[in-house]
Amino acid sequence: ANIIDMQGICKHYQMTEKTFCALNDINLSINANDYVAITGPSGAGKSTLMNILGCLDTPSSGQYHLAGVPVTQMSETQLAHIRNHSVGFIFQSFNLLPRATALENVMQPLVFRFIAMKARKARAAEALRRVGLSDKMHHFPSQLSGGQRQRVAIARALVTNPEVLLGDEPTGNLDSHTTREIMQLFDEIHDSGQTIILITHETEIANHCYRVININDGQIVSNTNHMRTEKCP
Ligand code: ADP
Ligand code: ADP
Repeated sequence: ANIIDMQGICKHYQMTEKTFCALNDINLSINANDYVAITGPSGAGKSTLMNILGCLDTPSSGQYHLAGVPVTQMSETQLAHIRNHSVGFIFQSFNLLPRATALENVMQPLVFRFIAMKARKARAAEALRRVGLSDKMHHFPSQLSGGQRQRVAIARALVTNPEVLLGDEPTGNLDSHTTREIMQLFDEIHDSGQTIILITHETEIANHCYRVININDGQIVSNTNHMRTEKCP
């Protein structure tokens, strides 16, 4: 079964004079364990698509199933539940809580669940181990490098065992050396069975994924599978 199944997705923004069409008839299927880059120039509709994929926003029309669940008709409460259980978000600017330690940041998505504190800590510690930060659990974000901060954010995205990991320009704030390290981490996470979608405008990052979906003017202009380039960007 497809993890992501979009049919005829459109997104219109109401402007003063007329409506603006940011996404126009998007049809998209993504399988379990796919490793996908969504790429395109600024203004193409990448963020709009990401917001709909991650259930942060709803389309104007069309059908979207996430892990078999029809999300298009859902209420805000139901969407919030799906977001928390099925999607792991990673942002360009990390979005960590500055006054919380790495461990506390990673525990955060579990706060509203009926999980004992001890089990929450254990799951967060395991997620930090996966990203290679076991020795930094009690550091605050300000005490970590950019690459380490993004590793914390990746651990936070993984801690709920989401159906899909969704990264919006996840290496946009990192130098080329750290970018390579983070892409290697995504490779390891993908090898363990995770479905990954990365939004990027960098060709090197896109070509590192197994599938590249190029969008322009709100439409998919190409959708190609290829062997992953072994060399990291
Ligand atoms: P990208 O992420 O590829 O740069 P976006 O999805 O952010 O593209 O934007 C696609 C188009 O939709 C752009 O032309 C942008 O100006 C427009 N747009 C995005 N969000 C809004 C909004 N809230 N209201 C009106 N227009 C928007
Ligand atoms: P990287 O080479 O990965 O960019 P840095 O050179 O920025 O890492 O940091 C090296 C080490 O110093 C890291 O292990 C990090 O935890 C630690 N460190 C960085 N900034 C601070 C800080 N402001 N306070 C305490 N430790 C820090």
